[in-house]
Amino acid sequence: MRVRRPRPLRRAARIASAMLTLACAANGQRNTGDQEDALRTARIAMVDLIEARGVRDSATLEAMRSVPRHEFVPPEYRQRAYGDSPLPIGYDQTISQPYIVALMTETAGIRPGMKVLEIGTGSGYQAAVLAAMGAQVFTIELLEPLATSAAAQLARLGYANVTARHGNGYAGWPEEGPFDAVIVTAAPEEIPAPLTDQLKPGGRLVIPVGGVGAVQQLLLITKDADGSLHRRVLIPVRFVPMREPPG
Ligand code: SAH
Repeated sequence: MRVRRPRPLRRAARIASAMLTLACAANGQRNTGDQEDALRTARIAMVDLIEARGVRDSATLEAMRSVPRHEFVPPEYRQRAYGDSPLPIGYDQTISQPYIVALMTETAGIRPGMKVLEIGTGSGYQAAVLAAMGAQVFTIELLEPLATSAAAQLARLGYANVTARHGNGYAGWPEEGPFDAVIVTAAPEEIPAPLTDQLKPGGRLVIPVGGVGAVQQLLLITKDADGSLHRRVLIPVRFVPMREPPG
């Protein structure tokens, strides 16, 4: 008879094996083929950890098993791409922590064919995860060099259902709205009204909110069929600040 270990022990064993895999990947491998294998194994282990932390949406987990996060970080951070932490992407900005990407994606309730707006393209990783789930993605980045490199990388990797542009996301993207979901990956002090205006009835906005230096809260804002808004506080988070329009 096979003895099934109690759930917390199974989880601990899974986490220990994931940590080991990540450590092996971080050590680097001899040739490119080995390296690709190690990166893939590390990516699966990363998603196991995210699942163990409570993310349950299978579409989110599947997308994160498929998107090569190591292609969205600078070369010097490639071997650390599957640790569960944010990493620098230049210009004082970061690619978000994978667990937070998963939590925000799950919370936004992404389904194939949905029209989704992302504010803060950064590396393009979150946009790639949304695209891998079959969403029609519109993403805006304030810093031109990041906007350009993310768009090029998304195209190179074949994420055709992403439209990226350089601009200030504070105003949303009215020409393309309304959206089924809006994901904001930089923190404003208050929720920008254009972003709730551009939500469809039944739509979901996932956004970190908080002043510079203050504790930010990740919020889920839902819009009812009658247009009224409801707000739920998820967890405390730390994002780069969202730059507001001048004046
Ligand atoms: N989603 C990104 C993480 C981005 S970090 C990823 O997957 O890599 C947040 C990004 O928001 C930064 O690149 C920053 O330049 C951008 N940003 C800040 N304020 C903005 C604004 N008002 N409009 C658009 N982008 C903004």
